[in-house]
Amino acid sequence: MDLAEYMELCLGHPEHGYYMTRDPLGAAGDFTTSPEISQMFGEMVGMWLADLWIKMGSPSEFALVECGPGRGTLMADIMRTTKGLAGFHEGAKLYLMEMSPVLRCAQQEKLGIYDPVWIRALSELPALVPVLLLGNEFLDALPVHQLVHNGQDWVERIIVLHDNATLGWGQKKADISLVNLVPYSVRANAGKGVSEVSPVINQYIKSVNKLLVNQNGVALFLDYGHLQSAMGETLQAVKKHRYVTIFDTPGHSDLTAHVDFENIEYLAAADGVRVYGGIEQGQFLKNLGIEMRAARLSDGATQAQSTDIATSLKRLIDTDQMGSLFKVMALCYHPDATFEPAGFDENI
Ligand code: SAH
Repeated sequence: MDLAEYMELCLGHPEHGYYMTRDPLGAAGDFTTSPEISQMFGEMVGMWLADLWIKMGSPSEFALVECGPGRGTLMADIMRTTKGLAGFHEGAKLYLMEMSPVLRCAQQEKLGIYDPVWIRALSELPALVPVLLLGNEFLDALPVHQLVHNGQDWVERIIVLHDNATLGWGQKKADISLVNLVPYSVRANAGKGVSEVSPVINQYIKSVNKLLVNQNGVALFLDYGHLQSAMGETLQAVKKHRYVTIFDTPGHSDLTAHVDFENIEYLAAADGVRVYGGIEQGQFLKNLGIEMRAARLSDGATQAQSTDIATSLKRLIDTDQMGSLFKVMALCYHPDATFEPAGFDENI
């Protein structure tokens, strides 16, 4: 089978899929995400949304959508942060796009008081209302294909089952529809190497564009990724905070691939959607004032709490931690297109 199908089954098979059977997050799980590191992350994103909602004319009704909300921690911090903003909670209808029954339970526990609606696809969202949409480490979980350029032609990597019942790599002629998804800049200069493409991500971004253009609003994506399209293999499997091979115990390790933000920018621009960023997560959070927030939280905190705040701040913004590897991009469509989202320019 092709890699995308393998990835989709490993993560989402109804019975054996990685996300369907467990809560993978946190120290006791397989990996930790920004909202799980510190409340400051959700506070910054919450204020970012609050600012945009005001700039959009404080719509009295809007869809607040999170794709892949994990344990619901980010949204819980967003809701806590925006509680004092008159009209925001009253106008927000919360939608959570989540495929995991286990994580849906965790989300119900944290966010039940806000009466969320769970959806499986963006097409289930109501029409007409403006949309504020988020995805943190969501796009990296969507399935990719790997195309290999051997110097002359493209072939597609596939997963094969050997006679001794082990899994390994094979290859087949690449379908032209997949080759056409390799960004032109990469195709034009392709030496030997691997290019990752994802019809699922492309389709998802097109659906986001359509939603924004029809209903107005913004979408914010934060993820592992690169700002420029390039050849390279980024697919990885992680189990208990360590790298494993993607063939190790399928369905028991997290599979992700880095997001090609230039491709997203290209897709958004093609549909007339404005793009902000991508920039590095550390810069985005600093522009939004996370260092001031950390200092404020440390006032009056115990020594142990202050150390914890300083350590989490470093994890979120330092270039050798999550500050550089993670990128942030916002897609925006609004008839009063004079406002700018905060965070992408140090002056805004
Ligand atoms: N945003 C959270 C969790 C990131 S893990 C955080 O930052 O902590 C990836 C999340 O995306 C999980 O909630 C997972 O179940 C969800 N997910 C992955 N693929 C999905 C899909 N195709 N549809 C809906 N949810 C998906």
